[in-house]
Amino acid sequence: MTTANDLSRLSTKAREFIGGTKGLFIDGEWRAAERGETLPVTDPSSGQEVGRIAQASAADVDAAVKAARRALEDPAWARMRPHQREEIMLRLADLIRDEASSLAEIETVNSGKLIANTRLFDADLSVHTLRYMAGWATKLHGETMDLSVPYLPNLRFNGFTRRFPVGVVAAITPWNVPLCQAVWKLAPVLATGCTIVLKPSELTSLTALRLAELCDAAGVPPGVVNVVTGTGEVTGRALIEHPGVDKINFTGSTRVGQIIAEQAARSFKHYNLELGGKSPLIIAEDADLEKAIPGAAWAIYGNSGQNCCAGSRALIHAKHFDRVVAGVAEIAASIRLGPGLDPASMMGPLVSADHRARVAGHVDRARESGAQVIGGEIVEGSGSYFTPAVITGLDHGHPTVQQEIFGPVLCAFPFRDDEEALRIANDTAFGLGASIWTEGLRTANRYFERLKAGTVWINTHNILDLSLPFGGTKQSGVGFELGHEGILSHTVIRAGVMLDEG
Ligand code: NAD
Repeated sequence: MTTANDLSRLSTKAREFIGGTKGLFIDGEWRAAERGETLPVTDPSSGQEVGRIAQASAADVDAAVKAARRALEDPAWARMRPHQREEIMLRLADLIRDEASSLAEIETVNSGKLIANTRLFDADLSVHTLRYMAGWATKLHGETMDLSVPYLPNLRFNGFTRRFPVGVVAAITPWNVPLCQAVWKLAPVLATGCTIVLKPSELTSLTALRLAELCDAAGVPPGVVNVVTGTGEVTGRALIEHPGVDKINFTGSTRVGQIIAEQAARSFKHYNLELGGKSPLIIAEDADLEKAIPGAAWAIYGNSGQNCCAGSRALIHAKHFDRVVAGVAEIAASIRLGPGLDPASMMGPLVSADHRARVAGHVDRARESGAQVIGGEIVEGSGSYFTPAVITGLDHGHPTVQQEIFGPVLCAFPFRDDEEALRIANDTAFGLGASIWTEGLRTANRYFERLKAGTVWINTHNILDLSLPFGGTKQSGVGFELGHEGILSHTVIRAGVMLDEG
């Protein structure tokens, strides 16, 4: 197996962008980190350093937040009409569309993901996101009402509301869908007239930096979009603690989400948190197994299991348990591991050697507890490859079942009736996604009503659409991205009262 990406296959545009040391994008300009510190950019397929990014300090973050605050009040942005913001967003969408193939290449080299995946879910979905959100720019509205004011019965008042931008948004993103996550944060900011300081994951910052250049080219005024790179501990922390930030929009782990919620509470910042998951995939007695078996396999193995909604717990009616487990294991065994740039690869490496060690640790703990594990092996060599796993025979309370692994590891359980399936399905701290595979409308509806998750899929899994709110319950998050809710959460309401003298 060729494990490393063949970088000579890259387009010139992608190759030139990946190499060298990147700066910070603050107030429409590129600058080096104030202390001159940098971090490596690594290709997970080889473990090799391919470039460097700046490590922003608290002073750099301060400069970025100040730029965002200045831009928020600057008439060039604050007085811009909604249709003009819409036009800028549509221009940005076109620029991303025109560069989709090189953006996908950059993402593949930086994240390890398959090129088909980075093209579809990073580049193309970013274009759709901007187009969808651009439409909202001209459709934000308040309400008018005839007021009672009962203690002043002889006077008449008109009441109304209007929505205003929430302000400076600190956006922090993870590494699993890097460009698209950045655009999911950016698009509602531009649609509502907010400004943003974006901190991408230190593992996958490259496409966010190219996005900053494209914002500039699309006509976004200086200071509206700022990108600071660096570690969570230094750059991320400085950003969430900054008093000039009005809202934190975070996607990442539940552990960091808790830190952010505490910080936001202390300073009364608005926030929404898109966190981890341990999503159940339930195969009912009347499921169509021809669809459910590949559905179950790809719900967990897609993107190497590095999906927040990955179907990591398969709950299978006891009648079908052996057949489904065998079917999923057969698919797992047929998955061709390889570098993301190779179109023949079916699964790329995990994002880093450290992450692979964490994933392998979860599988080892399952083995030590006596579970049956098919696959789940580290592939020796330079890239961070890991073979897809199916685990059976674990107690549902085991840490490997309860904790998010964020890798290609499926834990499977049999159930006897719907009550048992629902009890197991809801028995984790998370509540992000869930799917029910059934041919029965009543069964589908029963599960939809009782599964504690932000999204419930029926005969499918992991399908997101920009018009639907996306978010989690329990420890999977607070608030929603996308849809109308994703827009409204970037606004604050102001109530107006006018004396009617007529
Ligand atoms: P992570 O929480 O370790 O890091 C996410 C981001 O937070 C990174 O940019 C990181 O630098 C930053 N960060 C880390 N510590 C910080 C701190 N103390 N203060 C401020 N920022 C800090 O998560 P990850 O490993 O990058 O990503 C994987 C996680 O993301 C998984 O838990 C996955 O479920 C979750 N995720 C959730 C969704 C969703 O929509 N719910 C989508 C994708 C990923």
